[in-house]
Amino acid sequence: MKLADTPITQHQFYDIPFFLKRDDQLHSHFSGNKARKFMAVLEQDYPEVTTLISYGSAQANTLYSLSALAAIKGWQLEFYVDRIPAWLIDKPLGNFRGALELGARVIPVADTGLHPRDYIEQQRQPDSNCLVLPEGGRSSLSKQGISQLASEILSWSRFEPEHNFVVALPAGTGTTALYLHKYLKPHGIEVLTCPCVGGSEYLIEQFKELGESDFPTVLELETKHHFGKLYPQDYQIWHQLLQQTDIEFDLLYDPMMWQCLQSWYKQNSDKSIIYVHQGGILGNESMLPRYERKYGVI
Ligand SMILES: *Cc1c(COP(=O)(O)O)cnc(C)c1O
Repeated sequence: MKLADTPITQHQFYDIPFFLKRDDQLHSHFSGNKARKFMAVLEQDYPEVTTLISYGSAQANTLYSLSALAAIKGWQLEFYVDRIPAWLIDKPLGNFRGALELGARVIPVADTGLHPRDYIEQQRQPDSNCLVLPEGGRSSLSKQGISQLASEILSWSRFEPEHNFVVALPAGTGTTALYLHKYLKPHGIEVLTCPCVGGSEYLIEQFKELGESDFPTVLELETKHHFGKLYPQDYQIWHQLLQQTDIEFDLLYDPMMWQCLQSWYKQNSDKSIIYVHQGGILGNESMLPRYERKYGVI
């Protein structure tokens, strides 16, 4: 099975015209950057494997994407988490709900006192029927799918020679931005990103741990921004994006990147942005009600 060649559409956000790489449309369940990062697994044959194992948060986009991957492959997904909040068990929502519907087993291990990663290694002890993937696809395994994404962007941009392109996307682990930079820089395309988890120093550390020494451009906000915290500006910009583009962006990462881009664009209006939509929309099912409870329905 091969997934590729998502469309690139054209939009305007206030004074910023931009192109949007629609990776949210890669596949109905397996989409966005998690799909790109796990594409190598989708495309490879694993005759012995029956079980996919990973870990992270019970609300993570990774959980849903891996559930879809496992379902496509005919595997069982075991996803180890620290804990599952009681309200989420009561009323499954978002990525957690989607994962359960796709047959995933979400297993809390906080009671054992072990980190999920150590639990997998020490207690679960995966055998040759298991494939274990790192949290959030933070791995060089991701190169294959992201180089494919880069080549799609390049082939498209060759037909638009009048533009001076930059590629923009927010970073969590930074894996997607880092590898896009690796493949696009030789073609003269700058990659812009921003650190949604931790600050820019933490992000640069993450880049280094992936073994690279040349990095994308890291934009920052003037004030500190904490991952998963509810900011009225984030909620507003998300809603303005929806209104002005008719596209739903993700509520965790995209609002920060767009705020960075608004400042950046003031000095760079000669450049054309290709924004990479990284999926993650199902996560809004739990994020949006949190915003609505806190700041009201816009
Ligand atoms: C995971 C994710 C990111 C962060 O991707 P990294 O490769 O970890 O930097 C950004 N946006 C969305 C929607 C995601 O699901």
